[in-house]
Amino acid sequence: MTQAIASPAVHDLIGIGFGPSNLALAIALQEREKAQGKLDVLFLDKQADYRWHGNTLVTQSELQISFLKDLVTLRNPTSPYSFVNYLKAHDRLVDFINLGTFYPCRMEYNDYLRWVAGQFQAQARYGEDVLAIEPVLQQQHVEALRVISRDASGEQHVRTTRSVVVSAGGTPRVPPAFEALKDDGRVFHHSQYLARMAQQPCVEGKAMRIAIIGGGQSAAEAFIDLNDSFPSVQVDMILRGSALKPADDSPFVNEVFSPAFTDLVFQQVGAERERLVAEYQNTNYSVVDLDLIERIYGIFYRQKVSGIARQAFRTLTVVEKATASALGIELVLRNNANGQTSVSHYDAVILATGYERQMHRELLSPLQAYMGDFEVARDYRIVTDERCKAGIYIQGFSQASHGLSDTLLSVLPIRADEIAASLYVHDRHRGKGRSVQDLLLATAS
Ligand SMILES: Cc1cc2nc3c(=O)[nH]c(=O)nc-3n(C[C@H](O)[C@H](O)[C@H](O)COP(=O)(O)OP(=O)(O)OC[C@H]3O[C@@H](n4cnc5c(N)ncnc54)[C@H](O)[C@@H]3O)c2cc1C
Repeated sequence: MTQAIASPAVHDLIGIGFGPSNLALAIALQEREKAQGKLDVLFLDKQADYRWHGNTLVTQSELQISFLKDLVTLRNPTSPYSFVNYLKAHDRLVDFINLGTFYPCRMEYNDYLRWVAGQFQAQARYGEDVLAIEPVLQQQHVEALRVISRDASGEQHVRTTRSVVVSAGGTPRVPPAFEALKDDGRVFHHSQYLARMAQQPCVEGKAMRIAIIGGGQSAAEAFIDLNDSFPSVQVDMILRGSALKPADDSPFVNEVFSPAFTDLVFQQVGAERERLVAEYQNTNYSVVDLDLIERIYGIFYRQKVSGIARQAFRTLTVVEKATASALGIELVLRNNANGQTSVSHYDAVILATGYERQMHRELLSPLQAYMGDFEVARDYRIVTDERCKAGIYIQGFSQASHGLSDTLLSVLPIRADEIAASLYVHDRHRGKGRSVQDLLLATAS
């Protein structure tokens, strides 16, 4: 077995994942440093370096939220970490203004996030996959947490911290019909799009038949990219619904993504919370930006004009079975409108089937005995019994209690500061410094 590298330090906070959520938290904590003292904070991310959904950054993808909802502006428009300051630093402010848009391309937004992350390099460790978060016990109390990670060379690291914030994002959802094909190089989730497409024969102009499963934003982006970038590819877009539906981003509805709406959702009791979240699903789930829908419609219309039906749009269709065969990936497709099944073969299948939000349950399972069913307080701290003194926070896993903005960029600066405030209270309450030696002894045992 590989020897674990145990770090002697006891951190105040370890953040799991260094995506936009924890990056916003790093900034919020830095802002409080002067007045409240510096916390010892470390962020671990399994990626080799900072990338924001890096394999999905096709040229035409755009941010689906105003750039003014960057990492800081909602809380502190004077912060040096704003998107506007990034533009200024890169000598593109005037040009961006000339573009006349609130929605930069996602490649640029990724670059903005990388630019900010680069300024927090000292607090970040990349290439470390966190495997588990365990209790550090002292007289039956969870006084701290042990964070176990594995680096790219397979080495395990063990670190101790008073609090964790799990901000590990979504996990690609693979429908049951494709489970057995997860390791077949021809079937891949949209989260791997660019890396996997770079290995396909169509890159060299060879003919390919590709299926896209799904009818949301990712499916639409993949469709446009395949259509525009790979003339040798014939695409079947296969979706359960009867049409691509537009994302509702009208102004009154957009208020559900305001910080005030988080309070509103949180204050409701169970059934009403569920209703509020369900009512606005069409702002984010299984929907597509209207301009992309119009582009896709235009592609199919031009096919009708030319009489050359290159791409196909298969609505009301579900995949009943998927198998690997000599002819390619064989899909048994059922048309829900007429009940008929058909068989098609593809050289590649792209699963634009969304994401699950379960990672926190997996990572925190060694602490299950101290928490109920992951109930989260308003400050994003998981409710634990009195035996747990360590702070366990989550970001991006509280849609059910905090509303639809929780998995998005919408309220990052506000949420980050709420967690930062809570961390300082928590730290002070526990008498920072007093129990460090004890913790180290407990860690060593
Ligand atoms: C393709 C795509 C486009 C999107 N576009 C928008 C948009 O335009 N607007 C919007 O509001 N929202 C958008 N979203 C929603 C998205 O969730 C947020 O934009 C944002 O990424 C959330 O930030 P996060 O830090 O919570 O999670 P993530 O950005 O997912 O970051 C999580 C980080 O945790 C790391 N990680 C995961 N597990 C581990 C582990 N075990 N150990 C160590 N590190 C780990 C990952 O490597 C990753 O860097 C998009 C999502 C996708 C998939």
